[in-house]
Amino acid sequence: MNPVAPGHLTPPDPRVPGGVYLCQVNDTVACGACCGLYNCAAASRGQLQQLLARRTAQFAGVARNADAIDEFRLTLERREHAERPYSDFYVCPFLGLIGPRRSRPGCLLHPLADGNDGIDYRGLSFYGGLACRDYFCPSYRNLPAAHKAVVKAVCTDWYLYGLVVTEDRLLSAIFAAIEARRGRPLAPTEVAGRGPARDRMAELFALKLSWPYRGPGWKGPGNYFFNDGLHPCSPIDYGELNAPASLHDPTLHALGSSFASRRELIAAEALIETMLDRLLRALASAAEIAAH
Ligand code: SF4
Ligand code: SF4
Repeated sequence: MNPVAPGHLTPPDPRVPGGVYLCQVNDTVACGACCGLYNCAAASRGQLQQLLARRTAQFAGVARNADAIDEFRLTLERREHAERPYSDFYVCPFLGLIGPRRSRPGCLLHPLADGNDGIDYRGLSFYGGLACRDYFCPSYRNLPAAHKAVVKAVCTDWYLYGLVVTEDRLLSAIFAAIEARRGRPLAPTEVAGRGPARDRMAELFALKLSWPYRGPGWKGPGNYFFNDGLHPCSPIDYGELNAPASLHDPTLHALGSSFASRRELIAAEALIETMLDRLLRALASAAEIAAH
């Protein structure tokens, strides 16, 4: 998780690749996916909230010196040791809850975190200070600024935000489907605020949590977004289903789908179509209201 303070979309933020800061959004929305947040067998929102709260409370009593911080790391690595969905993806025990209300994930070693008096302790972490400061996940580079802004506007809770913002392939597929139907790009302002368009967009993103057609190799809800090809998502075998490749293949693939029958595939496509239709209707009525 890199340290740049939250920036605005316009003008582009030159401090981050792609010009839009993604790691921290507001008091309740932030991502800690690259720190291993979702790489747990027990990765529901409640379970992760408890884990982060426990770490934060314990770290509050740790003296800020190298020995004590190292001891904290070793103790938590031992205590939290478990079978992981992605065994080679490090889970950093210094990811806790930050902010005045401790309401979002963040780095407990960051100079602005409680008790650190402006000192950057990230050099004591497994990855080291440089990696923690300079890592930017593929979404930074692969998603257009407008799509990043939509995700930031739509996700109002850290749990869904961190899961969705790191899904660059799924997001690209969803936005491509929306924009192909409309024949024009989706502007962040069209889904900002608390209207039906935002809610329909959030429903689409929430497919990430509730998708009923996950394959047996699905390791989620977190995905493995590093570019080392260690955990590829299996392609859908349309030949086996005796079906043509789906128009929604990029979305189905990114959701980790697998189908027992052609009938299931058709049901999955219909579910996506229904949600896209609902979103497009909400966008159209919002535009009509705005025109009057
Ligand atoms: S996964 Fe990406 S958005 Fe999330 S904290 Fe890491 S760099 Fe930031
Ligand atoms: S020290 Fe841990 S929590 Fe902090 S940025 Fe690095 S990996 Fe993330």
